[in-house]
Amino acid sequence: MDNDATPQADGDGNTGGLLRDFVCAGCGCACDDLTLAVDGGRITHVHPPCPLAETFLLRPPLAPPAACLIDGEPAGLDEAIERAVEILLAAKAPLVMGLQRVTCDAQRAAVELADRLGAVLDPVDDSGRSPDHTAVQSIGAVTATLGEVASRADLVVYWNVDPMVTHPRHMERFARPPLVARGAEGIARRVIAVGMRRTATSQASDEFLQLGAAGDEAALTALRALVRAVAIDERATASQTGATVAQWAYLAERLKSARYAAIFHGPQHAEPVTELVHDLHEHTRAVALCLGPPPNAQGAVEVLTWQTGFPSAVDFGAGYPQHRPGEASAAAVLERREADAAVIIAVDPLESLGGRAAAGLRALPTIVLDQRLSPTAASAAVAFFTPRFGIETDGEIFRSDGVVLPLRSATPSTLPAVERILGQINQRLAARRP
Ligand code: SF4
Repeated sequence: MDNDATPQADGDGNTGGLLRDFVCAGCGCACDDLTLAVDGGRITHVHPPCPLAETFLLRPPLAPPAACLIDGEPAGLDEAIERAVEILLAAKAPLVMGLQRVTCDAQRAAVELADRLGAVLDPVDDSGRSPDHTAVQSIGAVTATLGEVASRADLVVYWNVDPMVTHPRHMERFARPPLVARGAEGIARRVIAVGMRRTATSQASDEFLQLGAAGDEAALTALRALVRAVAIDERATASQTGATVAQWAYLAERLKSARYAAIFHGPQHAEPVTELVHDLHEHTRAVALCLGPPPNAQGAVEVLTWQTGFPSAVDFGAGYPQHRPGEASAAAVLERREADAAVIIAVDPLESLGGRAAAGLRALPTIVLDQRLSPTAASAAVAFFTPRFGIETDGEIFRSDGVVLPLRSATPSTLPAVERILGQINQRLAARRP
């Protein structure tokens, strides 16, 4: 193996060598320090070791049935683009959904497409549903970069999340350095896991506080009261949260006495954790960061916000962007059967959305761009197969804390990129319906 900084292609398109400082799109950590060994057009080794990165990066190529399908039959790119354009020209109320596991260039092209079509545009996650941004919109975010947390936080709390499984290098990179340099002194960093059961994360933490089966909301309410020195009922708190008031008072004191506290939480707890952090600001510097989003879910939020003013559920039907959270979410539009065509980008809503929304989608002509033959792609009027995100794609992604990182292809692909397909559809639409 040589020490090339980038893989080199031989005459047959095979690549080999080392690829350094590679950004991993295996989870929301977006680690930018990987070294990949590439041999024969395949990634063969990942360093430093990470089980999730190995699963993500070492998987074999997907081998789609063709570059494109029209009604399930192999088709050429030009023919498939033409069919997609015909469907979209005939549509009066199209829907554009997906957008998370693609680069920012692809997200920009999707916004342009939705704007041109007067469509509803909604990024959706793997469940097929829109992420909830109402907490940030109603109470604001109190956040920081992961780099700031790694260098400044002296208390890290993992609130009912298990990053050792879902984000395997999160603790090592952002929470586990044992000392935080403060001038001549070193201050020991404490890591506290709060959760309903012991996990790999709780075992790697300094302390563990166990919640009752449904104690999340009650525990955060109790913590907020204790931080604000409001009396709470001991018996009710213990039965609702699964821990004693003394245990919550201890955590509240830890948070108040920290010089810089960082609380990592799942998306479902964004609002109460952010409210807790607001209360903590009476005493100290504290931040809340969501652990959950997949790579470039944040990019979808950023691109939509800077291009339309809104993070999701954007309706271009009036000729300008309108934010209709809930009402113009992809799932709600499909349930009400308001769309007459759909462009679905890098997501599989037929697999994940149940009931009326999935039935609504099945009734539509769909244009699907995905890296695999998913159930949604298999039933599409037009399916485009695209390079594997994070392995065969070039572009930019946003890490969950808003830091932009470059994504490079580690192995080549002959398939057209999402942004190229959407760009060609946009061009033909513009030529026929300026
Ligand atoms: S923690 Fe996540 S981003 Fe980092 S190497 Fe592992 S899978 Fe990739």
